[in-house]
Amino acid sequence: MTAPLLNVNGIEVIYNHVILVLKGVSLQVREGSVVALLGGNGAGKTTTLRAVSNLLEGERGEVTKGSIELRGERIEKLSTSAMVERGVVQVMEGRHCFAHLTIEENLMTGAYTRKDGRAAVAATLEKVYAYFPRLKTRRASQAAYTSGGEQQMCAIGRALMANPKMVLLDEPSMGLAPQIVEEVFEIVRDLNAKEKTTFLLAEQNTNMALRYADYGYILENGRIVMDGAAAELRENEDVKEFYLGVG
Ligand code: ATP
Repeated sequence: MTAPLLNVNGIEVIYNHVILVLKGVSLQVREGSVVALLGGNGAGKTTTLRAVSNLLEGERGEVTKGSIELRGERIEKLSTSAMVERGVVQVMEGRHCFAHLTIEENLMTGAYTRKDGRAAVAATLEKVYAYFPRLKTRRASQAAYTSGGEQQMCAIGRALMANPKMVLLDEPSMGLAPQIVEEVFEIVRDLNAKEKTTFLLAEQNTNMALRYADYGYILENGRIVMDGAAAELRENEDVKEFYLGVG
């Protein structure tokens, strides 16, 4: 077995020095896989992603126990931009496009750490447009005037502009119509298959996430309570009862 790309080992996260939110979370993400981090509101999914991409500091949070390794390198103390340079980017929940910028300007902000020149960046932009033809059509529109689905696509496209190895995707389905959610997940599958991009995605939409992921972890109240191959989790009676809405 090859070592995982990402190894999260027993992390605790505390906000504001007192609020213990993650109580020993461990998970592994293999290179080239799609891993779903599942669980209800407040379970700790976003916090786990923030810990990996080093976005906790701005939230007054810190990893107080455990370790996080990317290809065997300890990364808990790295900055967010150092993570981007190592190929790890996060697409935050709620999409976060710059409302006053056009779709194309938003996408270009994702290339800020690139050092491989304008031609390479332009080639990535064309690739992003090939995956998201809707964004190409809307390239000159201000993000504020685009739909929720287009903004989600823009947020993912912007992350892709950094040429990532791994994308951390926080609740891509949030607030989107089922058909658009499906469209977004199809693109994730495509990127994984063709670009070998690894995904760690946090989702409350268990049903959808387990259709597209290879492996899943279920988080409850800051602890992983179950994990397994996506196909196995979909057949698991407890998962069906508590997370898939099927008795
Ligand atoms: P959701 O789907 O609602 O985003 P989640 O599973 O992603 O849920 P988190 O956002 O990680 O969960 O939140 C886990 C817990 O941490 C919640 O109780 C939340 O109130 C708390 N929390 C999150 N961010 C902060 C913060 N910046 N300061 C203090 N507490 C926080």
